[in-house]
Amino acid sequence: MTPLQTSLPKTGFAEALTCWYQASHRDLPWRNTKNAYRIWLSEIMLQQTQVKTVIDYYNRFLKRYPTIRSLAEAPADELMKQWEGLGYYARCRNLQKAAQIIMSQHGGEFPKTLEEAQALPGIGQSTAGAILTFAYGQKHPLLDGNVKRVLSRVFDVDAEIQQPAIIRQLWQYSQELLEESRAPYAYNQAIMELGATVCLPQNPRCLLCPVKPYCSAQAQGTQHERPVKSARKATPHHDIAVGVIWKDGKILIQQRPAEGLLGGLWEFPGGKREPGEALEETVRREIEEELNIEVRVKTLIATVKHAYTHFKITLYAYHCDYEQGEPEPRACQAWRWAEPEDLEQFAFPKANKTVLEKVMTEWRAQQAATHV
Ligand code: SF4
Repeated sequence: MTPLQTSLPKTGFAEALTCWYQASHRDLPWRNTKNAYRIWLSEIMLQQTQVKTVIDYYNRFLKRYPTIRSLAEAPADELMKQWEGLGYYARCRNLQKAAQIIMSQHGGEFPKTLEEAQALPGIGQSTAGAILTFAYGQKHPLLDGNVKRVLSRVFDVDAEIQQPAIIRQLWQYSQELLEESRAPYAYNQAIMELGATVCLPQNPRCLLCPVKPYCSAQAQGTQHERPVKSARKATPHHDIAVGVIWKDGKILIQQRPAEGLLGGLWEFPGGKREPGEALEETVRREIEEELNIEVRVKTLIATVKHAYTHFKITLYAYHCDYEQGEPEPRACQAWRWAEPEDLEQFAFPKANKTVLEKVMTEWRAQQAATHV
C-alpha cells in the first residue's frame, strides 16, 4: 500500500468544481430553500436513496408536515405510512425523535452548531455539516458516500476506505479542499453533485469531469479500482413464510416492535423457515409461536424476492383460515383483524406490500363477481 500523503496540492480544484456546478446543476426542490427543516428532511431522505425516488416523497411529506412542530406531533402510524416504500425506516423514526427534541430543547428551530446538530438522532457529522452549510451558510466539510468516492479517486487512495485511519485522512482531504473554496454552499453542493452525476460508482464519466486535470486516479488509470473496498462476504438468504389469515371476511395483521428492522410497520404474521421444514409448516408453526393461534394453511398467494442491506429473502405468502385461539402479541407490539378495504391505510414493508396488492386484486375480483 502506498503511504497516504498528509496533503496534496489541489489549487484550482474548488474553483473548477464550483464553476461547473453553477453552470450545470440540477434544479432540485431542496436547493431552492434556506429552510433548515426542508434541507434536513432532504438530507435524510437522500441517504441510501436516489434523487428521482426522493422528490415525490419529499413534496408529499412537506405538504403533510410543513413544520418541525407538525412532524414532532404526527401520529407514529400515520408518519410511517408517509414513509412507506422509501425503506430504511429507522430514518423516519429518528426524524420524529429529533423533531421532538428540537421542539423541547431548541425552541422549535434546527440547531446552529455542529455539536448540537450531531447530537440529534439520525444525524452524523457529514449530514450535520451539509445542513448547516446549506441552511445557515456555514463552512463544514462533508464526507458522505458520494464524497468518499470522489476523494478516493481524486487522491488515488489505494487502501480500503472503511478503515478508521483512511476515513480520518479523507476528512482531512475534504477539509483542505473546502478551505480553498470561497463559496462553501456551492462547493459542497458541487462535490455531492459530482459524485451523483459524473463520478459514478461503476462508470465514472471522466471525459465530462470538471476536475479531471486534478484527479490522480484518472491520471494513473486506476479510477475503476477506486474506492478500494473489502471483499464482500456472500449475502445470507432466508426463506420466510407468512399467512394471510382470514376470519369472517377480515384479515389478521400485526405491527412489528417499534425498534429494529422495519420497526413500527405492519405485516402478515409468519417467520423464517427452519432447515428441511415444509413452507406450510413454517407458516403454521410461526403463527402459533408468535400469536398463539392455530390456522389451516391453504393456497400460495405469492412468492416475492427482496434484498435488505445485509441479507436477502424469498417471502412465500399463503391464504390461511383461522381455526382457534385468542391472539397474543408475543413478538409484535399490536395486532388487529382488519377489513380488506382498510388495509391500505397501514404502512407495510415492501415485500408484504406486494403480497397485499395480490390479495386486494383477488378480493376485488371476488367482490365484483358476487355483485354481478
Ligand atoms: S476524473 Fe473521473 S475519476 Fe476523477 S473525479 Fe472526475 S469522474 Fe471521478
